[in-house]
Amino acid sequence: MDLVHVRSMRTPRSRAELALAPGEALLGGGTYLFSTPQPPEVTGLVDLTAMGWRAVVPRDDGGLRLAATCTWAQLAAIPETATRTAAPLFRQAARALLASFKVWNTATVGGNMALAYPASMMTVLACALDATVRVWDADGGKRRVPAEDFVTGDMTTVLGPGDVLRAIDFPAAPLDGRTAFRSWSKAPLGRAAGMAAGRRDADGRLTVVLAGATTHPYVLRFDGVPEALELARAIDPIDTWFGDQQGALEWRRALSYLAAEEIRLELAEAA
Ligand SMILES: Cc1cc2nc3c(=O)[nH]c(=O)nc-3n(C[C@H](O)[C@H](O)[C@H](O)COP(=O)(O)OP(=O)(O)OC[C@H]3O[C@@H](n4cnc5c(N)ncnc54)[C@H](O)[C@@H]3O)c2cc1C
Repeated sequence: MDLVHVRSMRTPRSRAELALAPGEALLGGGTYLFSTPQPPEVTGLVDLTAMGWRAVVPRDDGGLRLAATCTWAQLAAIPETATRTAAPLFRQAARALLASFKVWNTATVGGNMALAYPASMMTVLACALDATVRVWDADGGKRRVPAEDFVTGDMTTVLGPGDVLRAIDFPAAPLDGRTAFRSWSKAPLGRAAGMAAGRRDADGRLTVVLAGATTHPYVLRFDGVPEALELARAIDPIDTWFGDQQGALEWRRALSYLAAEEIRLELAEAA
């Protein structure tokens, strides 16, 4: 789609050049920005892909870092030696974006998290694996935000105007956990109406993430595999269920309980 109010396009090469002028917006892959009309106030784009960040970088602790500009195709191509027993969850995350070859090769993981749709699979992946989001603040500072605190609501995050999501850091230990994933939608190839992911660590701890049916992700943590009732009671306080054209609230909430229980059972066997 033509963005008729956009008059300028910049390709920064350094952090200093990333500072946004009035009217400028950050551009990742543009698969959202160019798919829908933008407010007339958006008059310029600043292309993050010109920064030349390496898409996937091994970390000293054995974890890995994904640059914000890592595309879904690059995410899918990460070797299993890097993602270890969590490899299935990376594959499921990469496949969750039901899109054409063009979108697949252009959409970025940082754009996905910054856009913060409830169906942001990158957010689910990051939450399930205890990842941290590295943010470059507009005022020149830096901060690290736990992935589970990054998205605050439907299309809202902790990012302020001009803040840049620089990278997503995956620590080593959760990559050695066993994972499970469920998602559901009204149509076989429709956008996810809900998603649940789980991780069982070698020491038995269980993490369950619910998203897509709620305005922001929820991360539930247990010292071991809980009883079904304990898991259900941990879900009960969630109060941001919502419904829209992807599915009714009650249906999405009911399937979230079901998916969490399926994940509990699946990972109970993965000791
Ligand atoms: C066919 C199709 C299917 C889709 N399916 C899904 C889906 O299932 N789930 C889903 O969540 N989305 C979906 N999307 C929406 C979107 O394409 C994806 O979320 C994609 O990953 C966005 O990444 P991008 O790099 O293209 O973002 P862009 O369009 O470049 O940017 C999206 C927003 O994030 C901001 N932004 C981008 N990068 C950064 C950064 N590093 N720091 C700060 N702000 C930034 C931009 O300013 C903009 O506001 C779909 C889109 C299409 C066209």
